[in-house]
Amino acid sequence: MRPQLSIVVPMFNEEAVLPLLVQRLRPVADGLDTAYEIVAVDDGSRDATPVLLQRIAREWPQLRVVRLRANAGHQAAISAGLARSRGDYVVTLDADLQDPPEVVGQMLRIAREEGVDVVYGVREDRSTDTAFKRLSARAFYGVIRRLSGLHAPTDAGDYRLMSRATVDAVNALPEHGRVLRFVVPALGFPSDTVGYTREQRAAGRSKYSLGRMMRLSLDSVTGFSIAPLRAATWLGLVGGLAALVVVAYAVVSRFLGMTTPGWTSTVAVVAGMGAVQLLCLGILGEYVGRTYAALQARPAYFVAYDSLEVPDGGTAPA
Ligand code: UDP
Ligand code: MG
Repeated sequence: MRPQLSIVVPMFNEEAVLPLLVQRLRPVADGLDTAYEIVAVDDGSRDATPVLLQRIAREWPQLRVVRLRANAGHQAAISAGLARSRGDYVVTLDADLQDPPEVVGQMLRIAREEGVDVVYGVREDRSTDTAFKRLSARAFYGVIRRLSGLHAPTDAGDYRLMSRATVDAVNALPEHGRVLRFVVPALGFPSDTVGYTREQRAAGRSKYSLGRMMRLSLDSVTGFSIAPLRAATWLGLVGGLAALVVVAYAVVSRFLGMTTPGWTSTVAVVAGMGAVQLLCLGILGEYVGRTYAALQARPAYFVAYDSLEVPDGGTAPA
């Protein structure tokens, strides 16, 4: 039977939280009075996650395991789950219980009663996040809004409900490095929000390093705006003008017979221009990289197996 609700849960090396997740998610899902499937996307975990998932699936028929061959990243793992989900509604939920599963019921009720296509989970209280995370998140949403003019709800992460129509629209996008929390609002489906308190990670450590956060920010900006390219042009222009002034100054002082030591201005111009050029090159590189990835049209992930197709979970993962 086709489920009415799919809950997509991406996980990477989450052996520590998995038992806790099942303990908390299962009663919530069973209590929804809705035919559901859990799509656990194992994002190429290298710990006991795949083994645990197989064991849990034996006792939980609604649990479906989609394993990716290699670690594809949070957003790609969610995309894999969306592509394979079958429900009329799909909720995406992190595995670490930072987003309380109990909110799924509220999301479903709002979607059904108001007839909206998207219900965003909005973090109302982030006191369990570190000060750095909160500050960087604030800057992140601010910059994106400025640059893209996009009205993504502030503090909406990847905890959201989407209708089948929305999920189909997302699946149809060929875009690489898509950041769903901005892609989904850009689609323009009718939406509402539901507030929740972000909890402490139930166990284990965050899988988002500073590098990954940077990657997410860059993908968010370059995915929605070419403002940095324009900024590069302006920066080059201003840098060029400044250099002209310095050159004029150098020439005039030469003819006035002021023997300038010259070292300071030389260094300043070289360093200044060098920095401007490197920055502009870097910005260009980001967009060239995206174009390159789009041209290659390589899938963002490779599925190793889907327990729906191979009920025993396929070959035991290495
Ligand atoms: N995740 C994933 N692939 C990755 C990194 C993370 O599937 O390459 C999952 C992770 O298991 C978790 C969710 O994405 O369920 C969010 O990651 P995490 O909690 O580590 O990030 P944070 O909440 O610290 O931003
Ligand atoms: Mg987390």
